[in-house]
Amino acid sequence: MYKENSKYNLVISSIVFSVSMLIGLYLYFTKESIVIVISTFFISLIYIIRTNIKINKRLYNIAFLDDITQIGNYNYFIIECERFMEKQGYKNTALIYLDIDKFKLINDTYNYEYGNRVLKSIGEIIKIVFEKEAVYCRSCNNDFIILYKYNGEIEDLKNIVEDLIYRLKNVSIENDDNLDIKPSIGIYIVPKDYTDIKLCIDKADIAKSQVKGNRINKYAFYDAELRTKLIEEKEIEKYMEQSLLNKEFEIFLQPKYDMKSENIIGSEALIRWNNKTKGFISPDKFIPLFEKDKFIKEIDIFVFTEVCSVINKWMLENTLIYPISVNISRVSLENEALVKQFIDIARMFNVSHSSVQIEITESAIFEKEDKFQLIIDNLRDVGFKVSIDDFGAGYSSLNMLKNIVVDEIKLDKEFLVNINNEDRSHIIIDSMITMAHKLNTKIVAEGVETLQQKEYLSSIGCDIGQGYIYSKPITINEYERMIKESTIN
Ligand code: C2E
Ligand code: CA
Ligand code: CA
Repeated sequence: MYKENSKYNLVISSIVFSVSMLIGLYLYFTKESIVIVISTFFISLIYIIRTNIKINKRLYNIAFLDDITQIGNYNYFIIECERFMEKQGYKNTALIYLDIDKFKLINDTYNYEYGNRVLKSIGEIIKIVFEKEAVYCRSCNNDFIILYKYNGEIEDLKNIVEDLIYRLKNVSIENDDNLDIKPSIGIYIVPKDYTDIKLCIDKADIAKSQVKGNRINKYAFYDAELRTKLIEEKEIEKYMEQSLLNKEFEIFLQPKYDMKSENIIGSEALIRWNNKTKGFISPDKFIPLFEKDKFIKEIDIFVFTEVCSVINKWMLENTLIYPISVNISRVSLENEALVKQFIDIARMFNVSHSSVQIEITESAIFEKEDKFQLIIDNLRDVGFKVSIDDFGAGYSSLNMLKNIVVDEIKLDKEFLVNINNEDRSHIIIDSMITMAHKLNTKIVAEGVETLQQKEYLSSIGCDIGQGYIYSKPITINEYERMIKESTIN
């Protein structure tokens, strides 16, 4: 726009100037001199125009073009979007914010020049995927923004975004480089009361932050609740660092019962956070945040240590000791020294490895089967028992059991939700129990809440039950009391 305006002004002023010159010349000079003057004038005029266009083009590029990708930059995007919206209106328009996960790793592994080539390829992919019905730019570092007019069908918009993700995954700069680029994408559907493109960018950015670093979901749509959730998350992150020092965490134990004898056979350690300012915060809220920040590594070690410490206390008091299960996050499993750390802590408290059980979720194992299988083997080799947690929550569960040997399978709670009236659930649970027994593995039903569930599970041979019908997670003191009472009876 800026380029066209200045060109237009120059031509108009040149025409006005030349017409007035011609009139003057006609009145005062001979025919030959008029021709010479006119030709000189036009040659100069052409030169001036061409130089001006070149300068304008250079200025335009400096102001609006991204050097690395050769697509527009943020300033270009803002100006072009305003034009686009004026012309096309808000309807069926989406603001798409694209961020590349761990891009720094590409720069570090290769070099900046290589990283720039990757960014250029991303720019080219965006051009191909969004074609003409869009304005796009590289806004900064490894962030790209796209304003896209879709056909009104959200499913089609999703398909386009998935196509983008697919193409990014397959970006290759040199033969055999397996870049496996993973984006995080936020989508904001431009609303009726659209006023400012920058607000749309902010909202798409908020949506993006919901999937940043998420291994499974690579894109998310903005919704109003998201903003509130994000503010809450920021608050939790703010209090996180101090929380361990302030001793705000406490371990609760939820007893596990033998379904036949109905005796306690162990318990699961579940962390509780009582923050000085925010009060009680649920693990479902803070565990995913701690996982993002890697703070979970400290928490998992903290819980393991607390558990060993309590077992040590029981040993000294001659209390009956049943194994305690500790949940270990996928993030902690990345720590090469984890098994050694567990051995060291257990030794420090003189705790037998058979008194501590490690729970790893099925989804974590599924993600890095070979690597985590090795860790599971190592843990079992030194005497810790291992459980697969949330089994059957939507991954290739059965296949996994071909290779991975564990001591216990914990059926995902969701299985029990429909157990009362669904034949299909019955068939699945029934065959899982049969299969687990054939593999010499105990099966635990979690989230047992009703008598009907308990009786059904017991009738089909489920080994262990855990859930509100038996006991909610309780404090260590309450648990100790419970154990003492059960041994007296
Ligand atoms: P999980 O490992 O699947 O733990 C079981 C969850 O089910 C616990 O929620 C427990 O309180 C709840 N529960 C137990 N019985 C019932 C029942 O009968 N009905 C229902 N509806 N729920 C029941 P909680 O304590 O809120 O923990 C949620 C999740 O947070 C855990 O799921 C686990 O993934 C994570 N988590 C908790 N403590 C720790 C920890 O110390 N370390 C790590 N890495 N994760 C933890
Ligand atoms: Ca668990
Ligand atoms: Ca579970």
